[in-house]
Amino acid sequence: MKVIPYGRQNITEDDITAVVETLKSDYLTQGPRIAEFETAFAEYIGSTYAVALANGTAALHLCAMALGVEEGDKVITTPITFAASANCIRYCGGEVVFSDIDPDTYLLDIEKVRTLLSASPKGTYKGIVPVDFAGRANNLEAFRALANEYDLWIIEDSCHSPGGFFKNADGDIQNCGNGNYADLAIFSFHPVKHIASGEGGMITTNNKELYEKLLQLRTHGIVKNDGLYTNSIEFAGGLDNYPGWYMEMQNLGYNYRITDFQAALGHSQLLRANEGIERRRHIASVYFDAFKGQSFIKSQSGTIEGHAYHLYVIEVNDRLGLYNHLRDNNIYAQIHYIPCHLMPYYRGLGFSEGDFPHAEAYYKHCISLPMYPTLTDGEQHFVIEEIKRFFS
Ligand SMILES: *Cc1c(COP(=O)(O)O)cnc(C)c1O
Repeated sequence: MKVIPYGRQNITEDDITAVVETLKSDYLTQGPRIAEFETAFAEYIGSTYAVALANGTAALHLCAMALGVEEGDKVITTPITFAASANCIRYCGGEVVFSDIDPDTYLLDIEKVRTLLSASPKGTYKGIVPVDFAGRANNLEAFRALANEYDLWIIEDSCHSPGGFFKNADGDIQNCGNGNYADLAIFSFHPVKHIASGEGGMITTNNKELYEKLLQLRTHGIVKNDGLYTNSIEFAGGLDNYPGWYMEMQNLGYNYRITDFQAALGHSQLLRANEGIERRRHIASVYFDAFKGQSFIKSQSGTIEGHAYHLYVIEVNDRLGLYNHLRDNNIYAQIHYIPCHLMPYYRGLGFSEGDFPHAEAYYKHCISLPMYPTLTDGEQHFVIEEIKRFFS
């Protein structure tokens, strides 16, 4: 019997052709497919700039670097996320300050963040990393207003939400990662995410200065621009101009580049992104209707509109029982997430059980059901029937 996972990629003949053509081209990396993917992605999201990277974690790391996170800088994020949202602060020596989730949306509770900020002098915290968990957009207009009061930057972790949006106070649609409110936003192209490139990531922004920093940091901190060099023309070995080979490493960067064949795959997948979102929203509406009025199942609160549905999360009482029952029927549901602050690494930094009651209560009950565009109606029906059978 076929396994039904919680998420999976969909590779078409067009995707394969795009990759094979790139493999036969002159560039496997540092070629034209990367900029093409960036331009198309920025257009899809509605941001001015996009920088493609090796993975979403590299994207987070470079965001923290570009924003100047240093030893001891305090940054606020949610415990209900993939560890990388917090780890990027640690890579730069910063201090992660978790803050509890809203028990119904499962997103960072802005009122709790406000309380945290107001309890310390201005300047204590440097930034916030809201996560569009499961694909549900944060109200970034509200986070921006709060961040401005305290001079904070915002990195939006949009790994779950390409194609998701919220409506601002004027009723305008604001795509996740569009750069209107967050300083930087990041995406991942891991195969369980909406757009797969094997490994891959993207940063979007409307800030030119940050954009230029990111391009440099992605390639070792190397600059290739006559106007920016600090060594002399004479040292470089030229006469009136810098010679053609010359370049300078001006900052400590990394090799966080994506390859051209990954970019080609990501770009090919992006062309079907809207279809994928529509299918995800349809699947969500079927789950939602099937569980309506079932007292033993709680769904994430909020509307289907604007939700990108990376995950369809529910809370149930006998979570272990349901997980095992589904597993016995080849339905591989998953748990997102074990609270980040209770990972042994973060416990080692001083966090402990009881710190964030909503996140911890959520973890006791949550389970992510199969959610991906190629999940068939029949498969979803089977999943729903097995859940109902378990509870009856
Ligand atoms: C997947 C994910 C990441 C990391 O992305 P990778 O490409 O796997 O490095 C970061 N944050 C969240 C919320 C994610 O889901």
